[in-house]
Amino acid sequence: MTATGAQAALCYARRVSTEAQAPVLRLAVPAPLRRLFDYLPPPDADAENLIPGACLRVPFGTRELTAVLVEISNAPQDPAQTLKAALATVDNRTRLPEKLLALCLWAAAYYQHPVGEVCAAALPRRLRDGREMPLHAWRLTLRGRGLPEGALARARSQARTLALLQAGPRGHESLRRDGISTAVLRELAAKGLIERCAGDAAAPTAELRETPPTLAAEQHSAAQAIAATDGFACHLINGITGSGKTEVYLQLIERCLVAGRQALVLIPEIGLTPQTLARFSARFACPIAALHSGLATGARLAAWQAAASGAAGIVIGTRSAVLTPLARPGLFIVDEEHDTSYKQQDGFRYSARDVAIKRAQLEAVPVVLGSATPSVESLQNARLGRFHEHVLSARRGGGALPAVKTIDLKGLPMESGISPELLLAIRDTTGRDRRQTLLFLNRRGYAPTLQCHSCGWVGECKNCSARLTVHLRQRRLQCHHCGAKQTLPELCPTCGSPRLLTRGLGTEQTEAFLTAALSCPIHRIDSDAMRGRDAMQALLDIAESEEPCVILGTQMLTKGHHFPRVQLVGVLDADALLFSADFRGEERMAQLLTQVAGRAGRESAGARVLVQTHHPESELFSAVAAGAYTRIAERLLELRRSAGLPPVGQLAMLRADAPGERDGEHFLRALRASLPRLPADCELIGPLPAALSRRAGRYRWQLWCLAATRSGLRRALDELLQGAQSMKRPSQLNWHVDVDPIDVV
Ligand code: ADP
Ligand code: ZN
Ligand code: ZN
Repeated sequence: MTATGAQAALCYARRVSTEAQAPVLRLAVPAPLRRLFDYLPPPDADAENLIPGACLRVPFGTRELTAVLVEISNAPQDPAQTLKAALATVDNRTRLPEKLLALCLWAAAYYQHPVGEVCAAALPRRLRDGREMPLHAWRLTLRGRGLPEGALARARSQARTLALLQAGPRGHESLRRDGISTAVLRELAAKGLIERCAGDAAAPTAELRETPPTLAAEQHSAAQAIAATDGFACHLINGITGSGKTEVYLQLIERCLVAGRQALVLIPEIGLTPQTLARFSARFACPIAALHSGLATGARLAAWQAAASGAAGIVIGTRSAVLTPLARPGLFIVDEEHDTSYKQQDGFRYSARDVAIKRAQLEAVPVVLGSATPSVESLQNARLGRFHEHVLSARRGGGALPAVKTIDLKGLPMESGISPELLLAIRDTTGRDRRQTLLFLNRRGYAPTLQCHSCGWVGECKNCSARLTVHLRQRRLQCHHCGAKQTLPELCPTCGSPRLLTRGLGTEQTEAFLTAALSCPIHRIDSDAMRGRDAMQALLDIAESEEPCVILGTQMLTKGHHFPRVQLVGVLDADALLFSADFRGEERMAQLLTQVAGRAGRESAGARVLVQTHHPESELFSAVAAGAYTRIAERLLELRRSAGLPPVGQLAMLRADAPGERDGEHFLRALRASLPRLPADCELIGPLPAALSRRAGRYRWQLWCLAATRSGLRRALDELLQGAQSMKRPSQLNWHVDVDPIDVV
């Protein structure tokens, strides 16, 4: 038991002995209520196990749930209430570590989300289901220890296993890595020579499998400054694509391992490719726990345990990995910190980047954010001196940054979204140069609209305020918001005319055109063409092949992947990005273009990026062309300042949706009217309809809450939430609050 655990147990025991009354357990129950619940200890309670962070099964309404113990008190919050007893502790060995529990409490308050649901997000499925964690280590039994030497001489792997375990308990996975099969372990257990145990893992080895390159001067000074951090500090590595950010992470992780600590690395949703993992395991001999949505339950649990027990030296994962318990945290890294996939868009709407920063602060260790296109938020923090910024301005792996050129589309003859100049460039690249081309178009399907040429009818979704996208190959109309599908009509449903036209452009159409126009293969990469793990593998195969080809895809292409043979990048419809209703539209656009450009020519000179637009005069393009992302971001920061928008102003959004057209509006309007008085620096805007005003049959409304300070926002939200919780509302209406929203339209 830890020192604090012992203290808590002691004070629990003291309370039990000095008061007739049983202590009250204050629990975070995974229910959509913003409060803790009081319970009596379970009948079998062992004081030693009733420590904050412990998981308990509790009766809740008609259900049984796993709750997390937050504190022990000697009086209930409501003296009139008869308390129920918890049923049992779920697993006496596994609990949320003290600082992780503190993080969950902070996040619940910051994001105004029910604390029980936040704690539940930090627990593996198995505990939430009320089942004990599997024992993941093996040790010698008394008999095993007493076995005379040479007793198992004929069973060599069994003898080797016993020899390995002489040194102390070893994790199952780590034995497997040493070539011991599960069958051997089972046989030894059947003979009563070994048994399963919890076994805290020893600090993993810092041994390297390859010799790291010598850091360049800029990399070196960043790494030095970060390594010299004593306690908490937030570092921002602002380095162009290919400038060696990852190399800096790797060398920092090495130091972290040498110090006997673990490193947690967060990467965006799409970034956890085999390429990323391969790079980490090529460098480090220690176990690496990878946590991402593609994992099977068993593998996920094993990774979680390896992180929690300390067996894994490196934990690498997507958003939700930020809440993984670590036995010895020493370093947090958030790669591509600007990526919007770090923000959860439903339920517990947290930003994994911001939670990682808070976690590092609670653990008193450094956190490193890295990006070629830092968010305006992080740049602001760097300007204010809250983050230490390290600039990496030169590319490492050869290749200079590609030249970026705009193609003015005004008046040009276009074919399936491709101008003659771009087509020529593609032909030269794939034909003459035998290189690859990457084309970016953020719209899947064949065309975004189907229209009748006789009467003007347009195919619209019955459930959403949106048009249906034409998917020609599947002969379907599909809604990209609610997923509704229907067969492609042959005749206009209104006038019966056969003259149906497609309008606008999607990846499927461009693919069809290029297939006819070029002799090389066209690979379409979007969520229609490929899904899940297969998609990743397919991408990898293409990236590694020598074959000249065109890779055509949506946003999926812009992140993380390394395409060494891409010599030309084409952005087909930059205007779609330029005119966005979101105040972050230009920031996204600048990030996206810079990142897309960064995919080209990583290993060779002469790469170029062609951007098709009707507005080549936009400052954004010239700045991207000059590789001046930071300059654009700084200008955007000034605009946000004058508008009082994030990160200068503090924003939260209340959203309400219901089947009735005005229900959400009425609810938010009544809520607004019910507020006594807002803090002086706060402003409410709305209710306004969302840009997609109806989705899946529900009308969507929003109320903006904008404040000059965090504390003002916090007070305003407290009021708003109290009001919302107590207000009458139609039974079908849902509402939620989104703090620091990234999707505001
Ligand atoms: P980023 O993460 O900024 O995109 P990487 O760390 O992936 O950059 O580096 C780009 C390429 O340069 C990689 O192939 C990497 O191995 C190589 N590299 C990075 N730093 C060095 C260095 N100091 N010396 C030699 N090669 C390096
Ligand atoms: Zn018609
Ligand atoms: Zn729809």
